[in-house]
Amino acid sequence: MSKPKVFSTKALFSSACAVLDRHVDAEYWAEVERISRHDLLRHIAQKDGLICLPTEKVDDELLDAAPKLRMIATASVGYDHVDLAACTKRGVMVSNTPGVLTDTTADLAWGLLMAVARRIVEGDAWTRSGTWSGFTFDTFLGGDVWGKTLGIVGFGRIGREMARRSLGFKMRVLYFSQNRAPEAIERELHAEFVPLETLLHEADFVSLHVPLLPSTRHLISADSLAKMKPTAYLINTARGPVVDEAALVHALETARIAGAALDVYEQEPKVHPGLLSRRDVVLAPHIGSATIETRTRMAQTAVENIVAFFSGRKPPNALNAPAS
Ligand code: NAP
Repeated sequence: MSKPKVFSTKALFSSACAVLDRHVDAEYWAEVERISRHDLLRHIAQKDGLICLPTEKVDDELLDAAPKLRMIATASVGYDHVDLAACTKRGVMVSNTPGVLTDTTADLAWGLLMAVARRIVEGDAWTRSGTWSGFTFDTFLGGDVWGKTLGIVGFGRIGREMARRSLGFKMRVLYFSQNRAPEAIERELHAEFVPLETLLHEADFVSLHVPLLPSTRHLISADSLAKMKPTAYLINTARGPVVDEAALVHALETARIAGAALDVYEQEPKVHPGLLSRRDVVLAPHIGSATIETRTRMAQTAVENIVAFFSGRKPPNALNAPAS
């Protein structure tokens, strides 16, 4: 019997390729340049499975172009790029990679928080510029991190790990989420469940960890930014459209908030021009999970899900249950 044909939009790490190649007839996009939409639609025409990234939109057009497709594994925890309802309707199983990137993404969010509060990126540029003339008492003054109030929006896997990191910084932790966490977790992480409005009013750092859903699009709007302290910072490692970027630029320009540190943007890879020139903003190129160890685990997890499906087992990270 011939093996199922699977297309991967990225040449995966060798450990993941080795497993995939043993079980399916795999084809990889091996170019350095990201695959174009045109090439993606062409390559999946006769495929049974797809391994994709958040940069590839899975919609009716793609599903029309791949009538044999039965399983899609996205190598990401976020799946806002996948029309899950369309996949389910057509009997296509979808999986993601939750858990394996939690700590790594929380680390990056924490790094961004530290960088913007302590002006590390700005200081780095100044030090390299050759204009630094030695220690001064009152330049590059940032805001303290320790002892401040951290507001976590979305208290899931990554949000909770943010809370854990704050314990060493003697911070007060407020969180807002769709559902209240179990009491034992609140106690362990010293975290207090509050309405979003209270969090915005009281937090010195607002860190976003919700998925992108219709209910979270522009959750941080002009209105929410107006509720934040003028000394507060916004950290976004969730998804760009969770923040109204134009409203954020306006809030920074009018000193409504003290700064922002972002890993994700509304129109990636475009960054709002109003952010690019600002010194009170730290910008990262969507690298939340970008470590060798974590990206290897993500590739392996995507492969495990594909292999499980084509071996007749339920993928461990299935997001839907399409009728077969
Ligand atoms: P998770 O465990 O599912 O946590 C998400 C949390 O958000 C859950 O607690 C959920 O509540 C809550 N939530 C959902 N809708 C909400 C709403 N409307 N209002 C308030 N809270 C809401 O997911 P995760 O693994 O922590 O990942 C979170 C997101 O981070 C991902 O979806 C992804 O977009 C992003 N991410 C980005 C990077 C990066 O490279 N920058 C890397 C990894 C992840 P319930 O559990 O009660 O539904």
